[in-house]
Amino acid sequence: MAENAIEIRNLCKTYAGTASQPPKQALKGVNLAIRKGAIFGLLGPNGAGKSTLINILAGLVIKTSGRVCIWGFDQDVNPRQSRAAIGVMPQELNMDPFFSPRASLEVQAGLYGVPKRERRTDEILEMVGLTEQANAYARHLSGGMRRRLLLAKALVHDPHVLVLDEPTAGVDIELRQMLWDNVRRMNREHGTTIILTTHYLEEAEEMCDEIAIINHGEVVVQDETRALVGRMDAKTLVIQPEAPAASAPDLPPGVSMERREDGALAFHYRRTETPAEDILSALSAAGIRIRDVATEEPDLEDVFLALTTGR
Ligand code: ADP
Ligand code: MG
Repeated sequence: MAENAIEIRNLCKTYAGTASQPPKQALKGVNLAIRKGAIFGLLGPNGAGKSTLINILAGLVIKTSGRVCIWGFDQDVNPRQSRAAIGVMPQELNMDPFFSPRASLEVQAGLYGVPKRERRTDEILEMVGLTEQANAYARHLSGGMRRRLLLAKALVHDPHVLVLDEPTAGVDIELRQMLWDNVRRMNREHGTTIILTTHYLEEAEEMCDEIAIINHGEVVVQDETRALVGRMDAKTLVIQPEAPAASAPDLPPGVSMERREDGALAFHYRRTETPAEDILSALSAAGIRIRDVATEEPDLEDVFLALTTGR
């Protein structure tokens, strides 16, 4: 228990419906344990439930049922301590347009009860690259600068756990680099536990040592990134035969065949287990002549499919 920065048990969230919309079950019994010191990626397509989960951690959305512990503090039993342990950079760019970055940080620090002498306002502004804009109205800030400010606000109380909800969706390369540099440094130098959500597989692969994939409000898999990437070696070889195949080829073990509507044959295999040549020679042995060959790389969608159907 004490090993984990976050423990989530059977977490459910149903958003109430409206006159025009039925109720939405956004989280369906999520279990998750995130160890202290991890850089953890919560990966999933739009609508999967990532922000709902993050916002429950942040105390911005009220859960329907389940248990959430942050840094060993149960959210329901010790709301103050659990809130103090976590800082969240939300996905939405909502902020008070008439506050300068400096004022925003001071207000935020006040909300978290950080005493004046312990505040690091200037240091944080410097870190996120907002020193020059420190006294400008937030409404004059560009989108990128607003994001920097959101990150700065998440840091005022020096949280053990820093959560970033889609921090790089639609941001420029410079800001992305600033984010990753800061996140890595905080993790390395202060041992800050980092949780980030993204729908970019590559980003999660590059940044995170552990990943959970969430889809339709359920965690499909949680594993170390390296192990997960190993599972993601599903590939598809698509061939167009010269003539409709009479008999089925005798395929290497672990390879499955799918007949497509356009007459193509798709072979699903694992790159690490079967060389594509073995499939081609099985076709040739079955007398199937090939007009065209293509491969399909797995994307997140395939990974979901592979994981949910056990392939
Ligand atoms: P993600 O961040 O992974 O894109 P969200 O957590 O934002 O997913 O959304 C999960 C599901 O819950 C989606 O179907 C979304 O439309 C729905 N949802 C999110 N917020 C609300 C809300 N305030 N009211 C009703 N439904 C919502
Ligand atoms: Mg989201």
